[in-house]
Amino acid sequence: MKQFKTESKRILDLMINSIYTNKEIFLRELISNASDAIDKLKFISLTDDKVISDFSINISVDKDARTLTVEDDGIGMTEKDLEKNLGTIAESGTLAFKKENEGKTDSELIGQFGVGFYSAFMVADKIQVFTKAYGSETGYKWESEGVSGYDIVEYAKEGVGTKIVLYLKPDTDDEKYSEFLEEYKISSLVKQYSDYIRYPIKMMTTHTVKKEGTPDDKPEYEQVQELTTLNGMVPLWKKPKSEVNKEALDEFYKSEFHDYLAPIKGVYAKIEGAITYDTLLYIPSKAPFDYYSKDYKKGLKLYSNGVMIMDKCEELIPDYFGFIRGVVDSSDLNLNISREILQQDRQVKAIANSLEKKISSELKKMLENEREAYENMFKEFGLSIKFGVYAGFGYNKDKLKDFLMFYSSKKEKLVTLSEYVKEMAPGQDKIYYACGESYEKIARLPQIEKAKDKGYEILYFKDGVDEFVAKILNDYDGKKFASVTEADFSASDDSEKAKLDQKSTEFKGVLDFIKESLGDKVKEVKLSLNLKSHPVCLSSGGEISIEMEKTLNAMPNSDKKVKADKVLEINAEHKVYEKLKGLFDTDKELLKKYAVVLYSQARLLSGLDVDDVFDFVNAITEIM
Ligand code: ADP
Repeated sequence: MKQFKTESKRILDLMINSIYTNKEIFLRELISNASDAIDKLKFISLTDDKVISDFSINISVDKDARTLTVEDDGIGMTEKDLEKNLGTIAESGTLAFKKENEGKTDSELIGQFGVGFYSAFMVADKIQVFTKAYGSETGYKWESEGVSGYDIVEYAKEGVGTKIVLYLKPDTDDEKYSEFLEEYKISSLVKQYSDYIRYPIKMMTTHTVKKEGTPDDKPEYEQVQELTTLNGMVPLWKKPKSEVNKEALDEFYKSEFHDYLAPIKGVYAKIEGAITYDTLLYIPSKAPFDYYSKDYKKGLKLYSNGVMIMDKCEELIPDYFGFIRGVVDSSDLNLNISREILQQDRQVKAIANSLEKKISSELKKMLENEREAYENMFKEFGLSIKFGVYAGFGYNKDKLKDFLMFYSSKKEKLVTLSEYVKEMAPGQDKIYYACGESYEKIARLPQIEKAKDKGYEILYFKDGVDEFVAKILNDYDGKKFASVTEADFSASDDSEKAKLDQKSTEFKGVLDFIKESLGDKVKEVKLSLNLKSHPVCLSSGGEISIEMEKTLNAMPNSDKKVKADKVLEINAEHKVYEKLKGLFDTDKELLKKYAVVLYSQARLLSGLDVDDVFDFVNAITEIM
């Protein structure tokens, strides 16, 4: 017996001891897998006459054996496919899974992975999969009774396709699994979840008909079994807009994209013009586990007149909107198009352009009218948009800058740049920001207090890319970005400036001495009025800020050599100022220790490590 991969085991375990009240969705999952498999074979049938293109999905039950069977004549699976697809839940997921999913709740986990085939284990304690792949001589049987593992053996299966047999769990007081053997239940589930599947979903159903030969005025009836198509078969995007409400949009999304959670937003559009197409676009409510890794594949499902050409057509959406999922169907597309040609296809490019406009305008509308949904979108996918601003030396920045949001010190929530600029304090001419690992840490930066006192709203930059975005943007609406850790608030105030100049002259000997004792750890030591309750802070004197130093050094291939020029600022109005002056006259050795402690403290507050722990600890001990 083969073992499931670790991460699959855990999902499987979740399924078996199911957390869902909504167990019935397993049928939707199996049917959409079947439909995907048929999509793939149908595409091949365009160029291979030997494929019979009369596809269907068949459901049958055996009440005595307590089995429910879903069978398709789609592309089938080879032994390798079985191994890869049903033995593991996400090929590349192992590492990401372990790293990022500790401490997540079950439903958050499922939300990221989708439910899929394994959901059948919510209702079945044994599953058999009989399958034969297109172009293959041998068929296989895959069998599993859950976490213990699975077996794959050769099996003489007739015809290409996949047959999945579920052995339903015994009924309990709470759960009547035998319901899934009932005609009415199955047909209503198909209607509810899979009505728009484009291939007939067939099942033998019982009908009452008039007995042949019985007179019309005295009819007799009998029950007959008939193969019936249970679904309407009109793809959702071919329905009139008036028939497509939010619920239908959401259900379609869950079924088509195997997501347990409803999307944040779904849009249905029929575009007519230079190029004509129908589209369904969605913003998922959770970023897939691998979204921010290179393993993630963006793309929309591409159809030509109802025939799927490609499962994930990357060319249709730009990277920064890579989180959008959806379907595009255009009759303007050439069906016999190969993947390579697709990339350069004029029609595909035209659709991509039009889609980008559509997505942009929908996001804009959302921002205006559905603030909460927009913020949720931004929390999950904002990074993607930020990378978009930064990528290609800011090539797309003008298109994207109005979609950005940052946390505001004043509003204590996300705001856009245009909102920020509209509410700038009188006399304020810059967009102030502060960087740090978390909002809490930023809020406690020494320089923040003074900026807040001045009545300035400060944007909190928590993501490594944020400051790079600000640098690439340079300004918004003519207002330059400035870091509060670099800003000199006293520069614009004449009386403050005079005070500072005077004190600095007085203090010059002390400043020089501290600079000398710290050596090249700092570029400059100066007095400052940018601080309130804190005695010291670090600012950066050059092009590279302290936050950029952290970000660049944290990158995978960095040799940790990036260094910001650091300026140690000493609060001219703090008691420490007097203390340092005193020591300068009485005990220079102790002043050196003070310098080490203050410098280390400033580093810590900036989110940097103490660079010389030994020195630091010694200095503290001496002072004590
Ligand atoms: P998902 O469908 O979200 O990829 P599943 O766990 O449901 O995840 O299925 C895993 C994979 O197994 C599918 O991507 C598909 O390649 C394969 N598969 C599942 N069901 C079938 C089927 N009926 N025919 C062919 N392949 C299938």
